[in-house]
Amino acid sequence: MTKLKVEHLKKSFGDLEVLKDLNAEVQEGEVICIIGPSGSGKSTFLRCLNNLEEITGGKVIIDDRDLTDPSQNINKIRENIGMVFQHFNLFPHLTVIENIMLAPKELKDESDEEIRNRALSLLETVGLAEKADDYPKSLSGGQKQRVAIARALAMQPDIMLFDEPTSALDPEMVGDVLEVMQKLAREGMTMLVVTHEMGFAKEVADRVIFMDGGYIVEEGPPEQLFNHPQHERTKDFLDKVL
Ligand code: ADP
Ligand code: MG
Repeated sequence: MTKLKVEHLKKSFGDLEVLKDLNAEVQEGEVICIIGPSGSGKSTFLRCLNNLEEITGGKVIIDDRDLTDPSQNINKIRENIGMVFQHFNLFPHLTVIENIMLAPKELKDESDEEIRNRALSLLETVGLAEKADDYPKSLSGGQKQRVAIARALAMQPDIMLFDEPTSALDPEMVGDVLEVMQKLAREGMTMLVVTHEMGFAKEVADRVIFMDGGYIVEEGPPEQLFNHPQHERTKDFLDKVL
C-alpha cells in the first residue's frame, strides 16, 4: 500500500529554488534513507512532507490525502507524522515523562492515565524507564534523543521522519539511538531517515535516495546504490563518505 507520494515537488525560498521536481513513492512499512551533500535539500524535503514548509509546486499525498488540498485538515494529517530533529528540542522546564505526554494530552481524546501508561511503555522501549521524572538537562545527548523519539511516538504516528538524528551526538551515543530506530523499523514503521550513517543505511534501509542540488539523482536498494551507483555524482559522494 502506498503511504506517501510526492509528485513534481518544488520548493523555493525567494529566488532560491531548493527542491526541483522531486518524485517519490513510499510504501507502508518501508524504510527510506536519504543521503547527499550538505545543502542538497534533504531537510527541506522532509519538512515539506509534514508541512513545516509550504511547498511551491507539485503535490504531497499521504494516505491518498493531498496535503495541498485546502479542504483537508492538515493538522489531523500531521498528527500521524512524527518528526525527530538533529537537536532534540525537548522542553527544559518539563520532566521526561511530561515532555512525552504533552502533545497527546493536548490533541488526543484519551485519559491522562492512558497517555501516561503509553509514555511509560515508550520509555521502556527506548531503554529509559528510570528517567521518567528527570529533567532533560540531566540526560546525555543520546538519552535526550531517545526521549525525543519516544515523544514523537507518543502521538502514535504511522510515518516517522528523522533528520540527522545522530549527527549532534558523541560517537559513543550513536549506537543506542540507531538501535532504537532499527527496532522501530523491524516493527514495521514507515520511516524516512536523513542520515550520514552509511552502515545504518546499508543494514536497515529498504531503499536509499541520493539527493544533490535539489534533485533526487538516484535511488535504489542499498546494495545497488552503494555497490553499483549509476551516476557520477553518486559515485563522487560515496567516494568521499565511505
Ligand atoms: P540539507 O539538509 O541537505 O543540508 P537544506 O534542505 O537544509 O539542505 O538546505 C537546502 C538549501 O536551502 C540550502 O541552500 C539552504 O541554505 C537553503 N535553505 C534552507 N532553509 C531555508 C530557509 N528557511 N530560507 C532560505 N534558504 C533556506
Ligand atoms: Mg539538513
